[in-house]
Amino acid sequence: MNAVTVIGSINMDTTLRLTKMPKPGETLHTSDIFHSGGGKGANQAVAAKRSGTNTAFIGAVGDDNEGATLLDLLAKEQIDISGISTIADTATGQAMIMVDNAGENSILIHAGANNAFHEAEVQQQKALIENSDFLIAQFESSLDATLAAFTLAKKAGKKTILNPAPALETIPTELLAQTDVIIPNGTETEIITGIEVTDEASLFQAATALHQLGIETVIITLGSKGAFYHTATQHGIVPAFKVKAVDTTAAGDTFIGALSSQLNPDFSNLPEAIRYGNLASSVAVQSYGAQPSIPHRTDLTFE
Ligand code: ADP
Repeated sequence: MNAVTVIGSINMDTTLRLTKMPKPGETLHTSDIFHSGGGKGANQAVAAKRSGTNTAFIGAVGDDNEGATLLDLLAKEQIDISGISTIADTATGQAMIMVDNAGENSILIHAGANNAFHEAEVQQQKALIENSDFLIAQFESSLDATLAAFTLAKKAGKKTILNPAPALETIPTELLAQTDVIIPNGTETEIITGIEVTDEASLFQAATALHQLGIETVIITLGSKGAFYHTATQHGIVPAFKVKAVDTTAAGDTFIGALSSQLNPDFSNLPEAIRYGNLASSVAVQSYGAQPSIPHRTDLTFE
């Protein structure tokens, strides 16, 4: 069984359901509101753990009620939370997620504590990283902490997975040099490479551009179309499962966490692990919220 460490964001999500998105200056009523655990980092950790992986988390919350609730939620998942710092006089990260009737979402984020943990806190978690097969990061928390964690992982011979979300136009070259696998969605791919991915030719072009940044394994998620992968020795599209999506929040996070639970550290089963990621995320998009929608391995029906 893989051991996975995720470094990244933990947020308290407030999900608001609406018939349509508000225009500037418009006031609308919502049809539902609920709070749940979220943040790309925490979602990916929950997805990995619910697929049966030993999972640890490195991140931070504030010293408020939301922080205490989120720590409790992750502990109940049996995720190792010893790497999570509680930072005084700082708010826990929060996200306001609006979901319309078409299943589209718009999200506002207050990063809070997610941007208040740095290299010093990461250095204290060296053992967690060294005891993992994979280290996963995103761009919803402080970059210097992520870079320090990737440096520790590579020194220990571990594999690193970067989900470049939300996308940065310029990613530090030092971080890319230490990235084994990059997993952007179509929009993030375009922001990073300048190439709009519309067909197989543009996917190959974008993958080549990402390889030129020094990354060996490229996986581009394509929403309801599935995921494209490209390495020096293999490439292809693994189609998505056909389902009715009601809320795509955390689709990518579920894909990444679930994939990391199945992927052999030598990448020998890459298409199979992607298929498992597609299956887990196809379940996540059929219900509302981030962490509430992430399936357990036992919920998945394999054909
Ligand atoms: P993100 O959530 O980061 O924008 P994507 O939209 O590309 O990422 O979705 C990630 C994965 O979730 C896809 O590769 C696919 O497996 C699954 N997925 C997303 N939307 C759907 C959908 N409408 N139907 C089935 N699977 C989906």
